Amino acid sequence: MAIEAKPETLGFQTEVKQLLNLMIHSLYSNKEIFLRELISNSSDAADKLRFEALSNDKLYEDNPELKIRIEFDEKQKTITIVDNGIGMSREEVIQHLGTIAKSGTKQFFETLTGDSAKDSQLIGQFGVGFYSCFIVAKKVEVITRRAGLSSEEGVRWVSDGESNYTIETLDRPKRGTKVILHLRDDMDEFLNSWRLRSIVTKYSDHITLPIVMNKESEDEKGEETVNKATALWTRNKKDISEEEYNEFYKHVSHDFEEPMAHVHSKVEGKLEYSSLLYVPKRAPFDLWNREQRHGVKLYVRRVFIMDDAEQLIPSWLRFVKGIVDSDDLPLNISREILQHNKVIDSIRSGCTKKILGLLKDMAEKEPEKYADFWKIFGKVLKEGVIEGQEYQEELANLFRFASTQDDAEEQNVSLQQYVSRMKEGQQAIYFVTAESHATAKNSPHLEIFHKKGIEVLLLTDPIDEWVTSQLNEYEGKPLKSVNKGELDLGEIQDDQEKKEEEQKNKDFSKLTNRIKSTLSDKVKEVRVTSRLTTSPACLVSDDGDMGRHMEQILKASGQSIPGAKPILEINAEHPLVIKIDQEADEDRFKDWAHILFDQALLSEGGQLSDPASFVHKLNSLIMTLAE
Ligand code: ADP
Repeated sequence: MAIEAKPETLGFQTEVKQLLNLMIHSLYSNKEIFLRELISNSSDAADKLRFEALSNDKLYEDNPELKIRIEFDEKQKTITIVDNGIGMSREEVIQHLGTIAKSGTKQFFETLTGDSAKDSQLIGQFGVGFYSCFIVAKKVEVITRRAGLSSEEGVRWVSDGESNYTIETLDRPKRGTKVILHLRDDMDEFLNSWRLRSIVTKYSDHITLPIVMNKESEDEKGEETVNKATALWTRNKKDISEEEYNEFYKHVSHDFEEPMAHVHSKVEGKLEYSSLLYVPKRAPFDLWNREQRHGVKLYVRRVFIMDDAEQLIPSWLRFVKGIVDSDDLPLNISREILQHNKVIDSIRSGCTKKILGLLKDMAEKEPEKYADFWKIFGKVLKEGVIEGQEYQEELANLFRFASTQDDAEEQNVSLQQYVSRMKEGQQAIYFVTAESHATAKNSPHLEIFHKKGIEVLLLTDPIDEWVTSQLNEYEGKPLKSVNKGELDLGEIQDDQEKKEEEQKNKDFSKLTNRIKSTLSDKVKEVRVTSRLTTSPACLVSDDGDMGRHMEQILKASGQSIPGAKPILEINAEHPLVIKIDQEADEDRFKDWAHILFDQALLSEGGQLSDPASFVHKLNSLIMTLAE
């Protein structure tokens, strides 16, 4: 390949420009992290080389001892980080250092506020990476060659982090990447061996390959290793400090913040593996993105095999970060093989149990922390009961809901708490699903429950509809929707009340039939209920039919569903119902009947099919009352 005479100038992708600009301004107070990020990239590059070399050991060339070297030059005001990892080809340089390939990047930038304190947290979740070197450098040079390419296929990339970079081909006999930072004027503090060493031990002690620097004393020549350079997870738990666990987390997760909790375990016996798993403090920016990456990394006997091995952890724990290191898998394992592998299946179930155990402990011992966890990841965890029966019991114990016994909108109440305060004779766990907390809390369906002092869980996450269709019982108590089927309060409703309800249905049969014939295309049945105390009417769905709220969700998502007709239940004691019963004018009766139905629909958060006609009818009735 001919070596180009002139460097080519290319522009950064818009998102890169935004990121650069933001990073320099918002992370200025934490500038030393640039070194952690560059070391982390070099370490990943070494992992990738080791992995590719498993099937092609020529890639090691004559340089098999992988390491990272840090140099600095006080006169030139440069810091240089050199690795002999996988390196990059020209295309890779353009792709990795000129664009951001993460999915959801564009949406991420749209969430930025311009307030640097808030944005620096967001940036942290996004992962700062290579570009963080521009916090300290006014110019950055990257000289690299991909392992396996010829020495003339080296690449030099230079940028001042503004809007362009130049790229040229050059001769580079050595494989791997060298990053030269030309420091800004006020960054002299980093041109100091002691300072650099302390940053390395602070952030990168856990990196498995040696990070070397020149020996400190003048008379001794040669280099020495600055970090511990052993895989953190192979060390004894009691010898690992909280800081070391935290820094390792930042390395594997590309998160900026400390994790919320971790669990480190070694399994020995028939199957041998270690796992070190973390729960982050914040949701990653792409939690709801199906292609979300950076989950759990797989190692086999200390050799990195792959990122984001989704088979190691169920998708409802996709927020978990960390590593699994197996002693039993072959080194040449591929993603396809992972899908049908008994070893992986047991590791996955082991890891799932570890995380569920960690969360259970947190819920018991640190309820406030658990409340934070639930706020952020509760919705994801709920997916677990939809995916299968396997962990239903453990999950049900971890779930938290808002409730009529709790003023807060937050989901604080566990099923265990609910069961412990059930009324005597109460056989079911009652819940209402609605679009918002206010709609749920004020639902007419709850009136009788308030009267009897029975607690009802207020479920307002869309996923709750699916959760309650899978989670049918807890500790032998069925979960029952208050807006579905006939009201059956079991022993709480005494026989006297049941008889009265039956009697009322007979007494009011003329009225219910009259309303039914008016609303025949809207309702399946009209009946008198004891569930209401202050509202005149409400809608319920028949036992076998789809729930009302589920129907709203599906409609809102654009699905056309046949939609079973609801049952209109009326409160025979309500003055409005009594008034309607006495209405002799047939046209006016019809208006009343429609209004009753529309009101019931509105109070459960539904949408009127013809709002203008509702307003019109209501106004004309108000006018007749005013007359
Ligand atoms: P991230 O590490 O989160 O993917 P970065 O911005 O830090 O993001 O790096 C972007 C990409 O550039 C990396 O994923 C990697 O492919 C490449 N890269 C960065 N540094 C190196 C290096 N020292 N050796 C090889 N590739 C590198």
